[in-house]
Amino acid sequence: MGKFNIPEHVYDVIIIGGGPAGLTAGLYVSRAGFRGLCIEGASTLSQITVTDHIENYPGIPEGINGFELIERFKKQALQFGLEILSSDVTSLQETRWGDTHGWKLTAGEASYEALAVICATGAFWRKLGVPGEDTFTGKGVSYCATCDGPLFRNREVVVVGGGDTAIQEALFLTNFSRKVTIIHRRDRLRATKILQKRAFAHSKIEFAWNSVVEEIWGKESVEKVKIRNVKSPGITAEIPAAGVFIFTGLTPKTEIIRGIADLDNGGYILVDAHMQTSAQGIFACGDCIKKRLRQVVTACGDGATAAFSAQLYIEEVKGESY
Ligand SMILES: Cc1cc2nc3c(=O)[nH]c(=O)nc-3n(C[C@H](O)[C@H](O)[C@H](O)COP(=O)(O)OP(=O)(O)OC[C@H]3O[C@@H](n4cnc5c(N)ncnc54)[C@H](O)[C@@H]3O)c2cc1C
Repeated sequence: MGKFNIPEHVYDVIIIGGGPAGLTAGLYVSRAGFRGLCIEGASTLSQITVTDHIENYPGIPEGINGFELIERFKKQALQFGLEILSSDVTSLQETRWGDTHGWKLTAGEASYEALAVICATGAFWRKLGVPGEDTFTGKGVSYCATCDGPLFRNREVVVVGGGDTAIQEALFLTNFSRKVTIIHRRDRLRATKILQKRAFAHSKIEFAWNSVVEEIWGKESVEKVKIRNVKSPGITAEIPAAGVFIFTGLTPKTEIIRGIADLDNGGYILVDAHMQTSAQGIFACGDCIKKRLRQVVTACGDGATAAFSAQLYIEEVKGESY
């Protein structure tokens, strides 16, 4: 038994998720001298690994491949003693050692215990599920205009969706693209009126109403999308496009924490400014939390904050608060 009857095998912090948020949290936790384990996920990778080129992460002016960025995050965290394990966490339960509260996680065949947990499980963009979508992800198909928009300077692109994100991102894409066609399954937009007004007034934006994408086509990269009219299914059309931006919704990966911490209606984890959830000893960061901007740089910031909050919590639990 360790101090305050805490068994030796108990980690100070277990981080669920090995994306920018989780690995930054791991870096801060381990550099501060706490015993941390990051369970990075075996069946899925960080979203950022699907993108070829990130040019908006500060300090890397030449840009970097997403996979390489994650490898660099890992290397840096490992240098400070973070343990990293590839496995999928399948359950999270409260536990106690005497009077001390903690959490027990199951991953694969094994279980792990910690005083504090940082949930950094990310989110995934809802896919259309049409031919060509997977083949051309990162080669014209994108789920992030902020990230990939500048790659389509003076090219024609399409945006799929009719909500706030789709219209906001379509407007953003007009900064780069020659023409932006919004493909929407209905005959009117769901987006707020102010965004609608801006989109309708924009000379670079056109609409394909009552239409769904049937196929994304190209050779090396995207060249055109085939659409079908849902009101008159016999009517199909082809739209030339180098980029296809899909904004039909984002789904947070928060099943593991549902029923334990409070989520919003969309399934995002509710946190305060210190990344504290409604559950004792659980912090959350990155794309899985309710927030406005989902990017690497914000995920890293959240991860650092979550780690610091977890440290303060652990010191309090151990009676070591400064
Ligand atoms: C195509 C594309 C391009 C992008 N381009 C950019 C860009 O240029 N610049 C930018 O700043 N942002 C970009 N983004 C956004 C960026 O990828 C995300 O904001 C960022 O990855 C969020 O980091 P995260 O750590 O919160 O989540 P993620 O990176 O998604 O990581 C989540 C982690 O949790 C793990 N996980 C999930 N569930 C479990 C579980 N049950 N057990 C164990 N592990 C689990 C996953 O395996 C993964 O390791 C892009 C996104 C996409 C999809």
